[in-house]
Amino acid sequence: MDVAERRPLIAGNWKMYKTVDEAVRTAEEIVRHVCHVKDVDIMIAPPFVSLVPVAHIVEGTCVELGAQNLSGAAEGAYTGEISAGMLKSAGCKYVIIGHSERRQYFGETDGTVNQKINAAIQNHLVPVMCVGETEKEREAKKTFSILDKQVRNGLEGLFEDDLKTLVVAYEPVWAIGTGKTASVDQAQEVHAFLRKLLESIFSAQFSESIRILYGGSVKPENIQKLVAMPDVDGALVGGASLSAETFSQIIRFR
Ligand code: PEP
Repeated sequence: MDVAERRPLIAGNWKMYKTVDEAVRTAEEIVRHVCHVKDVDIMIAPPFVSLVPVAHIVEGTCVELGAQNLSGAAEGAYTGEISAGMLKSAGCKYVIIGHSERRQYFGETDGTVNQKINAAIQNHLVPVMCVGETEKEREAKKTFSILDKQVRNGLEGLFEDDLKTLVVAYEPVWAIGTGKTASVDQAQEVHAFLRKLLESIFSAQFSESIRILYGGSVKPENIQKLVAMPDVDGALVGGASLSAETFSQIIRFR
């Protein structure tokens, strides 16, 4: 697959924002704003309790549903957890895995990311695997070694045939929710590194087919330049995805 065949994906992570009613209203507005958009895949990831009502809103539209997390286990006595099968039955196509906020506040590791990716693919969910370095790690020139470890460990034991739908999101931790965006050159440098890494673990054909999103303070003002970079295949958007109007402007970046 060549670059032209990697369809851009714009994904909205609503984090722990919006009641069910608010989520439904925002989803309705997004669908209205972007129903004519044809050349971009669109995903919104509301909190768990809003997945089913939002699934009804987006069904049959160009907007698809994602979850923000899942359990690595199939089922069992794991109070408070949500399985991949449950997400599938709620109407999800995608699931975000290993977001830096989950790594930072909820003890997620490359090992749990690996379990969750396994659970997602077994249930035909598209895993959106988040990786990224902290500011300290960047300053210490450890960006590439950190990403190498996160990707290798996160995908350990998996084969390229299992990972055909994989999406990787490069989210420098220092850019998430801070208003600081990586420059287009910084983003391209890391995305090219990640693609080469996927090639060295799997194959060139595989790495060329995988979408690598950028995440970190994406907004209508910077999306176009980011997505114009050869290895940036879309964006994972946090804060700016909470407003239907702003998120729709990002989706209509061309
Ligand atoms: C995110 O939550 O994945 C994210 C990138 O957040 P923000 O766009 O707010 O930086």
